[in-house]
Amino acid sequence: MTKAYLINPNELIRDYNEVVDKAQKIAIYTIGIELQKKEIEDLQLYIDKLSVQREEFATKNNGNEANLIYCLERLAMIIQSEIKMLISLKEDEMSQAWDILVDCQVHLGTVIRNYPFESDHLENYLQRLHNYEKTLFPKMIFNSYGGFVKESHCSICKSDYGDCDHIKGKLYNGKMCTRNITEVELEEVSMVENPANKHCRALYIEENGIKIDLLTKREISTKS
Ligand SMILES: [Zn+2]
Repeated sequence: MTKAYLINPNELIRDYNEVVDKAQKIAIYTIGIELQKKEIEDLQLYIDKLSVQREEFATKNNGNEANLIYCLERLAMIIQSEIKMLISLKEDEMSQAWDILVDCQVHLGTVIRNYPFESDHLENYLQRLHNYEKTLFPKMIFNSYGGFVKESHCSICKSDYGDCDHIKGKLYNGKMCTRNITEVELEEVSMVENPANKHCRALYIEENGIKIDLLTKREISTKS
C-alpha cells in the first residue's frame, strides 16, 4: 500500500468487519422481518458514527482517512439497503425492491473503484447483487436517453464540469465527485438491454388495451 494513514486502518476495518459480519447474517431472505428492521437501525448508528469521523478527518484535510471512511460508510449503507430490499420483497413492494437493488449496484461499483485495499470480496459482493437481479426479477426492458449535456457542474468545487481537475466517481477528501447535470438537450429515447441507468425501465406492457405491470403481471388500474 502506498497510501499513508495517520490512524491505523486495520482498526477501522476490524470494527467494520464485526458490524458487517453481524449484518450479513441478517441479510438473508428467511430471517424474521422484525429482526431485519432492527438491524437497519443498528447499522444506522454505525453509519452515523462513521459520518462524524469522516467529517472530522475531512476538516483536517486528512484525505486518505476521509476517503477510506467514506468507503466503509457507503458499504455499510449498501448492506443496510440490501436488507431493505429483502423487506420490500416480503412486503410485496417490487418496484421499490428493484430501485434499491439498482442503487446498491451503482454505489458498490463506485466504492470498488475507490477502495484503497484489495477488493476481491467486494467483487464477490457485486456478483451477489447481480445474482439477485437475475434470479428475483424478470428480464427487464430499459429506456436509454441520448442527449447533449448543455450545462453541468462539478459537485466538489461547483465549477463547470470539465473546467476543473476533479473526475466524477472519484473521492476527494471524503466526498464523491459527481457531475451534476442542470441542463440537457434530449435527442432520442431508445430501448436497450444494457442501459447506463437501470432505473429507467419499461414499467408495463399493453395487452388488448390493458396495462400489465412487468414486475408483478398485475393489471394496472387505469382509473385516475
Ligand atoms: Zn471540480
